[in-house]
Amino acid sequence: MKLVLLGAPGSGKGTQAARICEEFSIPHISTGAMLREQHLNNPEHNKELHERVAHGELVPDELINEMVSERIREADCKNGFLFDGYPRTNAQAVYLDSLCPVDAVVRLEVPMDLIMDRICGRRVCSECGENYHISALTAIGSEDTCPKCGGRITTRKDDNPDTVKRRLEVYAEQTQPLVGYYAAQGKLIEVAADGRPEDITREIFKLLRELT
Ligand code: AMP
Repeated sequence: MKLVLLGAPGSGKGTQAARICEEFSIPHISTGAMLREQHLNNPEHNKELHERVAHGELVPDELINEMVSERIREADCKNGFLFDGYPRTNAQAVYLDSLCPVDAVVRLEVPMDLIMDRICGRRVCSECGENYHISALTAIGSEDTCPKCGGRITTRKDDNPDTVKRRLEVYAEQTQPLVGYYAAQGKLIEVAADGRPEDITREIFKLLRELT
């Protein structure tokens, strides 16, 4: 199954992506995570990329498309994959169609007022990458330590209110139009994503099973 998960920052893509990939045994390809691993680990390396990401701007299509084309040639992608955070522009969507058209695009829809709270409260484990909301960590008295693996809890640099505002504008301008692009191809699956994560997961699994 070749899938794209589409949704604004803070719509829960990371959480749902991990669950879908486990359920359908496909690799999770997050271009944001790949960028952080391959290009953003060292603050001295590639300053322009750092600046763009830190300000909530997209990085050039060519760089992302090249990363993706290499990644999907790897053996684990033979039976499918799930893109999280890709494509984000019309040019990326057209490129992906030329490379390897996907079967379905799951769109997570969340009202804007919820999104700011979700992103500004987002914390991530520096070891296992698990995402949490600060309120969930506070509730179990584990604000600094990952309850899953014991790793250190951190906040992503681009999860601050100014950058989040810009990321949302960029999403509305450049990524939201892909909803129409994939609807026209008959590939769009819309899911209301403002409820409990486990209910959203159940709904996604149900809709994806109808495809197979
Ligand atoms: P994410 O982890 O998906 O929120 O991505 C973090 C940041 O990486 C984004 O705000 C962009 O600056 C950059 N990025 C990730 N994926 C893409 C993409 N497909 N196209 C352009 N920039 C991207």
